[in-house]
Amino acid sequence: MSHDTFRTGGAPLPATFDPPGPSSPSVHLNLNVRGAAPSATLQVNEMCDTLEREGREVFRLGLGQSPFPVPEPVVQALRDNAGRKEYLPVRGLEALREAVAAYHRRRTGTARLAENVLIGPGSKELMFLLQMVYYGDLVIPTPSWVSYAPQARIIGRHVRWIDTASANDWKLQPDDLEKLCASDPGRPRIVVLNYPNNPTGHTYSDRELQQLGEVARRYRVIVLSDEIYGEIHHQGAHVSIARYYPEGTIISTGLSKWCGAGGWRLGTFTCPRHLGWLLEAMAVVASETYTSTSAPIQFAAVTAFEGGPFIGPYLRDSRRVLAALGRHCAAVLRGAGLQLPEPVGGFYIFPDFRPFREPLRARGVRTSSALCRSLLQDTGVATIPGESFGRPPEELTLRMAYVDFDGGAALDAVAALGEETALHDAFLRTRCPRVTEAMDRVANWLRALGDIDERPDEQEMKEVS
Ligand code: PMP
Repeated sequence: MSHDTFRTGGAPLPATFDPPGPSSPSVHLNLNVRGAAPSATLQVNEMCDTLEREGREVFRLGLGQSPFPVPEPVVQALRDNAGRKEYLPVRGLEALREAVAAYHRRRTGTARLAENVLIGPGSKELMFLLQMVYYGDLVIPTPSWVSYAPQARIIGRHVRWIDTASANDWKLQPDDLEKLCASDPGRPRIVVLNYPNNPTGHTYSDRELQQLGEVARRYRVIVLSDEIYGEIHHQGAHVSIARYYPEGTIISTGLSKWCGAGGWRLGTFTCPRHLGWLLEAMAVVASETYTSTSAPIQFAAVTAFEGGPFIGPYLRDSRRVLAALGRHCAAVLRGAGLQLPEPVGGFYIFPDFRPFREPLRARGVRTSSALCRSLLQDTGVATIPGESFGRPPEELTLRMAYVDFDGGAALDAVAALGEETALHDAFLRTRCPRVTEAMDRVANWLRALGDIDERPDEQEMKEVS
């Protein structure tokens, strides 16, 4: 931008309006934002674009976007409501809040009402509002989704990471939560729990949720239960921690993952009644920023949350494809020597390349970011480094999103097969060929790397887990 852009009517601006000079371009940026890098996902996308321009084949396992189309009745509801142009109430369309509350009563058994629901333009925005209005620490297990911590940093909240270990399938341990809370028992905190998990693909058992809920209750922390992948638990067996800690759990979900509608931007928060003051405060900030969520999208979302005969087969078939493909990816990578938990929900795996530490080091690969770049360069497979999910930079973990396939064609094919037929490798290689090819390429790349350390030494496990 030239300096002239900052001038009005040719008159020089007062000194305080001087544009930042080239040697200090960000001097007028909010300190919380200064130096922040664009998300890793964007960086990987740019690398992919460059490779594709060079004529290389790229397998896009970086971006976590649902491969499935929005169900037709929901799209029809959007068409039918395209003419709705009014501003809707800041908390959301009453009929949608009713539908969301009823959905949670059905799915999680919690006694939530429309007045306990807040609709927003994506659950990500609602998480930002929550952190904005609540004055407390944000507690995040690592690895965790890429945006929780940057949001806290932008707002100026204190982040407390809790480490997890691959030996526990990267799950938050109740004892570790207890230890952190006991260190300052009266401190206000929001603990983020995301399951099925991005990036690991794992989830918590009933027992684990119960134990975590007990600790949360003991220290009266707010649990932000990010259940955006709940409906794509591969067995359809998602359980919310709200069942065990209803009075302190905010359930976050939306249309982005189970309804294939990430770009529609609709998210929901459902709160226990006595946290109504939080929703109230969030609605105030919403009213001064985005005003309300897009009207046609809210009308269409009523159809999605009410369900109806179409949603059962849609979810069942989506889960069947994801379950089979997740299992396939994990098996191929394990066969090549990587360690990773069995994916049980969502569409991610989080392999650990530590068994290949020595051959990778010999090639100059010492961090997850270098690993991500090297893999993309050599095989065309795009991933996101573990570092972006809060893991130590030198830990050799990556997230792979097994979504690079035509979800509409896969759903048609699986529906034609009938419910009883198992989805074998031949089906996956035909319907999800880019994902299966990507896994084969990674496996071959690992084989070509040479010898692996069969067992990472104890000290190293401690350093990075
Ligand atoms: N939580 C998790 C774990 C996610 O992966 C995402 C999207 N990638 C979100 C929240 C945000 O979803 P949205 O804003 O689209 O509702």
